[in-house]
Amino acid sequence: MVSGGDRVASDAANFLISCDLMPSIRLLPPSVVNKIAAGEVIERPASVLKELVENALDAGARRVDVTVEQGGVDLVRVVDDGGGIAPDELPLAVATHATSKLETADDLFRVRTLGFRGEALASIAEVSRFSLRSRQPDRPAGALLEVVGGQAGPVEPCGGPPGTCVEVRNLFFNTPVRRKFLRSTQTEMGHISESLTRLALARSDVHFTLRHNERLIYDLPASNDLLARVALFFGRELADDLLAVESCDGPNRLVGWVARPSQSRAHPRMQYLFLNGRHIRDRALQHALGEAYRGLLLTGRYPICFLNLEMPPDEVDVNVHPTKLEVRFQDGGRIYSQLLGTLRTKFLSTDLTHRLDPAGAAGSDGASEHDPEHAAKLRSELVDWAKGQLAARTPASAVSEPEAATAVAPARQAVLDLGVRLPGRPLELNPVPREWLPPAAESRPEVAPSNSPPSAFRVPPSASVAPVRALQIHDRYLVAESDEGVLVIDQHALHERILYEQFRERVLSGALESQNLLIPEAVDLSAADASLLMEHRETLAKLGVQIESLGGSTILVSSYPAMLAKLSPVEIVRAVVEPLAAAGRTPERRDMIDELLHMMSCKAAIKAGDRLTDEEVTALVEQRHLAQDTHHCPHGRPTALVFTRDDLDRQFKRI
Ligand code: ADP
Ligand code: MG
Repeated sequence: MVSGGDRVASDAANFLISCDLMPSIRLLPPSVVNKIAAGEVIERPASVLKELVENALDAGARRVDVTVEQGGVDLVRVVDDGGGIAPDELPLAVATHATSKLETADDLFRVRTLGFRGEALASIAEVSRFSLRSRQPDRPAGALLEVVGGQAGPVEPCGGPPGTCVEVRNLFFNTPVRRKFLRSTQTEMGHISESLTRLALARSDVHFTLRHNERLIYDLPASNDLLARVALFFGRELADDLLAVESCDGPNRLVGWVARPSQSRAHPRMQYLFLNGRHIRDRALQHALGEAYRGLLLTGRYPICFLNLEMPPDEVDVNVHPTKLEVRFQDGGRIYSQLLGTLRTKFLSTDLTHRLDPAGAAGSDGASEHDPEHAAKLRSELVDWAKGQLAARTPASAVSEPEAATAVAPARQAVLDLGVRLPGRPLELNPVPREWLPPAAESRPEVAPSNSPPSAFRVPPSASVAPVRALQIHDRYLVAESDEGVLVIDQHALHERILYEQFRERVLSGALESQNLLIPEAVDLSAADASLLMEHRETLAKLGVQIESLGGSTILVSSYPAMLAKLSPVEIVRAVVEPLAAAGRTPERRDMIDELLHMMSCKAAIKAGDRLTDEEVTALVEQRHLAQDTHHCPHGRPTALVFTRDDLDRQFKRI
């Protein structure tokens, strides 16, 4: 048996032996340095494509043709019609840290080109069979340089059109470990295509083509219309759902397109952000984007955008990442606010109502022929709606007032009794500028008459207000006529949205009424849930939920929001735990408040299946205008679909 002391002694001996064997420090030969550098810059064929195309763009190319074979592993060829390279400079172009784009160290802080580090060609040539053929436009002929695994051959004269052609074959042929990390042709092709997409979106003024194994994948003629390019990459449907945004803040200009909330993705990869024409990834800006869409998208969905930020090059450091994907702004906070403010303003001034795009509306390209299923579905939806409308008008199915009242489930009655006087206080609660409100809204009285029935939906006096024509169908949808056409509203989603906005306003202004329990109620939970609640005690207090720990897994509830008065403390506490648990241990306070507000508005809103009186229907539909975003419920589902008159006329073949 080896004693503890013996083991220490033998470990020390081993250490000395290994120190003995440790070689002395040496400078690495350039080929190893280059291979290490190549590892940083060149991860896969798509990185080769990116570097080569960036060089072409820096050289002023108007057209860039890319050919790849086997996902770029066998070949990446980029041909451009740019300024070219002088024959005697070809060896320099493939030397490490050789660039024509920087002169002094200060230039690093005003970079106007995509490249500036002077290491891409050297890195690529180190790990491939590489050839560089170039001709400057004012010279009768060009020159060719070949490099195999870092070993450069002689510069030889050659013919060819003005511009540059770089061929990269057998990537990583001399670094088998790296080659092993390459994925299937299909996967590598996916990366290639994404790389080209980013470059081509940043420069819609340049003609790009992409061929894979002789097949033409993209042919993107130059145009100054980014939208046209978006349509080529992602389809017309998305392009049609984009909103133009533009704003200036001093020398900084933000310009581009963002998708309506009806278009979103389960991943953030469709968030194309560019800085002075360079694709970048920036967590802060992505966060700002998420904030701008807060409440407009379902949880787990990400907005889509194509945005370019133009700013003086000395306000941003692009030299913080080997592939220049990440940058550092001098005043990140200012750009964050600009992005958030621009988008929020845009959404507030835009009708985000989910538009059903009837097949016929696609016009001359006749989408109905292309997608008969969609057209049929739409038609049947319309027919259902029409049937529902007819049924509601026939006396047999009409529900008399008393019946309607008894049809109301107790839970919903409780909700209606919460005294949420929607018409009474919208203007003081709501930050929507007056000019955006319908004129009638401003003439409404501030407080509803005190002797009116205790309902959530008090009907505003109609003397000066043209009544909204609306009716409830299937106990869950409201059909209303608007100037534009017909709205089909999801009653729960809309009410939830309105309540959410009101609750949020009240919480923000500290005006949320809470109700103290005469006798605080003890609630038993799991120990984990109890401690989770106690951790967030302060945040809950902001929302009007006062709790204390009774030790172990028991919580004492002493007050909770007045608007949830008819739910029991147990129900409330259980409902609160769920979003807290889902948010993880350290959710951002603001996210959590938002989650809880969602939950509360969902609980307090009328449900699908609740029958409403005509007055309630009218009142609810009229509330639509009073919330900041009634187009989506807080979970991001649309609250209403609109069938424009044109859509209807077209469907019924009137036009
Ligand atoms: P960087 O782009 O950072 O300068 P590279 O290694 O990518 O470094 O390129 C080295 C140099 O080779 C560039 O600075 C440029 O002068 C020249 N070069 C590379 N590709 C082209 C091209 N397609 N057209 C003209 N010049 C090029
Ligand atoms: Mg470069």
